[in-house]
Amino acid sequence: MTQGGTKPHTTGEQRQPRVVIAGAGMTGILTAITLRQAGIRDLLILEKRSSVGGTWRENRYPGVACDVPSHFYSYSFAPNPDWQRRFASGEEIQAYFERVFHTYGLGTVTRFNQQLVHSEYRRGRWHLKTDCGHTYQADFFVCATGILHHPCYPNIPGLDSFEGACFHTARWPQSAPVDGTRVGVIGTGSTACQLIPALADRSQHISVFQRTPQWIMRLSNPGFGPTTRLALRRLPPLQRLVRWSHQLLLSHLFSKAVIGRKVPHWIISTLCKLNLRFSVRDPVLRRKLTPDYTVGCKRLIINSEFYRAVQRDTVSLETAAIRKVVPKGVVTDDGKLHRLDTLILATGFRPFEFMRPMVVIGEGGVTIEQQWRHKVQAYRSLLIPGFPNLFLMLGPNTPIGNFSVIAMSEVQVNYLLQLIQQWQQRRFDAVSARTSAMEAFNQSLKAGMKGTVWLGGCQSWYLDKDGDPAMWPFSWQRWVDEMAAPQMDHLRLHRYGNG
Ligand code: NAP
Repeated sequence: MTQGGTKPHTTGEQRQPRVVIAGAGMTGILTAITLRQAGIRDLLILEKRSSVGGTWRENRYPGVACDVPSHFYSYSFAPNPDWQRRFASGEEIQAYFERVFHTYGLGTVTRFNQQLVHSEYRRGRWHLKTDCGHTYQADFFVCATGILHHPCYPNIPGLDSFEGACFHTARWPQSAPVDGTRVGVIGTGSTACQLIPALADRSQHISVFQRTPQWIMRLSNPGFGPTTRLALRRLPPLQRLVRWSHQLLLSHLFSKAVIGRKVPHWIISTLCKLNLRFSVRDPVLRRKLTPDYTVGCKRLIINSEFYRAVQRDTVSLETAAIRKVVPKGVVTDDGKLHRLDTLILATGFRPFEFMRPMVVIGEGGVTIEQQWRHKVQAYRSLLIPGFPNLFLMLGPNTPIGNFSVIAMSEVQVNYLLQLIQQWQQRRFDAVSARTSAMEAFNQSLKAGMKGTVWLGGCQSWYLDKDGDPAMWPFSWQRWVDEMAAPQMDHLRLHRYGNG
């Protein structure tokens, strides 16, 4: 990839595009590999930090793991027979991405410590600038910047006055003072439910501040012994079978349950309720842990340790609202001061930021802030009207409840590859979504939301400021079918005679 440059490379009839990918996380790595395998050579990944891995690099809190089965939480082209458990730890997943990155030789096309701060589209070309002042041009600009990477810091009075260590789970310090100390954890989402059991043996006492209880489903996490791993390595069809069975389970049980199919929803609801009933013996504690909304309304938590952890003598579940933070701890609405040495914010993320705070300027000088001033939306979650040749990977309405985000990304990258191939064949110089197509797409999503559980009476990160879930309200199969090939009449094709 060259810095500067004005004309696309051409080889015979086919043009070679320059593609810049923002981010070397799961999606950036996937995009680079897929495009390279399709013969696209002029690639550059710009990564803001000094290593790959995205969310798995950033989330290093104790207990971090993936609650999607590991054989399905891997690239389809890079299966891993060596996963240690059904649900891999964050460390193992990070090692997997590093390995894939090196195996596919992406080091030569990646520049680290370069955060993109400015991007501007002018006549078929993206002009990009990083925080160290380097500039690049690209025919295609792929934002593989993830969804859950902007920590959400709670707006609690006095938070800054706390005298001890205070940090967000996604900013875990190397020597976090959690051993033998009094720890407070704000939040009881997926992150907190993994963290609290991991700290329970280490900390003197943990005060868990719960604002809203969560539904939790128990799934065992068996290890894969050496014989199983050897069998998986020697018999690739077996590995494919394991992957396929997980995909089938998730797509037919979890993903259908959340979009309103009655039988799958009844099954997961019953399993969650039984889990609570039989895991928590004390009726008072059980009542505190019982949600008053539909199962799946907030992201369903898969966890087999949280309930056991909150019943330990050294862990207390605080359900009175937090009034303020003071230098010595947290004061709840019942007037009680919870004395703490360390305060951990397991308070989630701001999922509607996407590639921002990068400045993104599309056609006619319109910024992404202006484009999204009323609503953060995209056509097919990927293309934004007025921002030609920009692909927003894992954009709004990508997530499919409790499914593998890697599988979703693989579908998106094949879609974008097909458009790039059309560009190579000179069918256009730039492509963007028609506003009418995006509106129709979003109308269909809105109509589809009516039967989903996300509108089941809870607050969650799934909902935008209008209360619309930024999720995919249909089946996995429909996602695959609709993304199989670009519908060209939904797209605007631009010609500039660039090369
Ligand atoms: P989250 O699900 O958004 O949970 C945030 C928690 O913080 C909630 O309990 C929330 O309470 C609480 N909270 C936020 N602000 C608060 C305040 N001002 N006062 C008191 N409580 C406050 O965040 P997360 O647990 O980090 O998970 C986010 C997403 O990351 C998950 O849904 C999942 O998609 C992903 N994740 C996945 C895995 C995995 O295993 N695959 C693991 C971790 C995370 P309310 O419920 O009342 O808002």
